[in-house]
Amino acid sequence: MRIVLVGPPGAGKGTQATRLAEKLRVPHISTGDLFRTNISRQTELGKLAKSYIDAGDLVPDEVTIGMAKDRMEQPDAERGFLLDGFPRNVAQAEALDELLTAEGIKLDAVLDLEAPEEEVVKRIAGRRICRNDSAHVFHVTHKKPAKDGVCDVCGGELYQRADDTEETVRTRLDVYHTQTEPIISYYDAQGLVTTISALGEVDEVTERAMAALPQLEDPAPSH
Ligand code: AMP
Repeated sequence: MRIVLVGPPGAGKGTQATRLAEKLRVPHISTGDLFRTNISRQTELGKLAKSYIDAGDLVPDEVTIGMAKDRMEQPDAERGFLLDGFPRNVAQAEALDELLTAEGIKLDAVLDLEAPEEEVVKRIAGRRICRNDSAHVFHVTHKKPAKDGVCDVCGGELYQRADDTEETVRTRLDVYHTQTEPIISYYDAQGLVTTISALGEVDEVTERAMAALPQLEDPAPSH
């Protein structure tokens, strides 16, 4: 099972990817998370990526593709993966195709999460994330933690991503429209794309997403 998740920043890709990856029993590979881990560990790659990420721009392809490739070649990704945030432009999509073709494998689906612009700006500007786990996501008005600044799940510190300010979100949306959206047509030509609405409760969107992947039945039924 090899799936690519696309959608504008704030559509809930990370949240849905965590849930879908668990249901489908494949690793959730987020290039954004890989970059953030490198930044917090102050690696060379992290230092290089930081200025692009803080500005809302894409990290150069040669760095990103190499990092994504290394992650996809880990043993846990042998039987499949769910890609979140990669590819983000046509050159990356072509590089991914080459990589998969060389391995004699292909993508099963591209899931496109759709959300109106004003909604994603509101979601992102109020978003707060746990330092321990980026899957623990809160919102200053829609999903307040019980205690300000503290993760309800694990007690970790909540913070606002440096690239989650309204101004940077506008840049990220521009980048999405100009660079990332063209990959939807690219994959559509391969008959891989299903578009679903990212609006509504988190559970509803997950159900919608699972229903949009009919050929990929939940491999984890309880016996
Ligand atoms: P995300 O967590 O997916 O929103 O990614 C955060 C930031 O990391 C993006 O705004 C980009 O600066 C960078 N990034 C993540 N994935 C990629 C990618 N595939 N190509 C280039 N930059 C990326």
